[in-house]
Amino acid sequence: LEAKEEFSHKTLAMDVMRPRRSDPPLSVLTQNGMTVEDVETMITDTTYSGFPVVVSHESQRLVGFVLRRDLTISIDNARQRQDGIVSTSRVFFTEYTPPQPPNSPPPLKLRGIMDLSPFTVTDHTAMDIVVDIFRKLGLRQCLITHNGRLLGIITKKDILKHVAQIANRDPDSILFN
Ligand code: ADP
Repeated sequence: LEAKEEFSHKTLAMDVMRPRRSDPPLSVLTQNGMTVEDVETMITDTTYSGFPVVVSHESQRLVGFVLRRDLTISIDNARQRQDGIVSTSRVFFTEYTPPQPPNSPPPLKLRGIMDLSPFTVTDHTAMDIVVDIFRKLGLRQCLITHNGRLLGIITKKDILKHVAQIANRDPDSILFN
């Protein structure tokens, strides 16, 4: 493989991803640790289009990605069906749901709305490659990992802003249209 021509200042995925160092942490769902109320709070407290699902906050191991829209619809539907789903119902993105303790409300199983293989790159991936992947695969977002731990996210809009910045510096590099 030939060495590609690089930007003089080579930007990496870690330079473009959110959250920035000063930002609050990434808003993630855990695969079996939340209640319906926890998820609803996350939906109302943020405006993000989607949320990564991780094994646990401690591991930050990626399980999948869920769109905000699908979460909202699924929870609303479950509440309306009146099949016992309430604020304290536990939410599961896992394949199997453990038996719930006696007298607890039925669990809400949401594995079906999760993208099980969201696109990921490592934090050291060069941004020209990331931009290329977005263009070629038509991605809406890409998750950033380091040693298997989830670190951040880059959305299509983040890519467009990044490309616009580069274009200001170097008008010849039209990478995206
Ligand atoms: P867009 O980039 O199209 O506005 P979003 O509303 O999903 O899409 O994201 C807004 C900003 O927040 C982007 O810079 C993105 O990188 C970041 N972001 C997206 N999802 C999350 C999340 N779950 N937690 C933290 N930041 C996020």
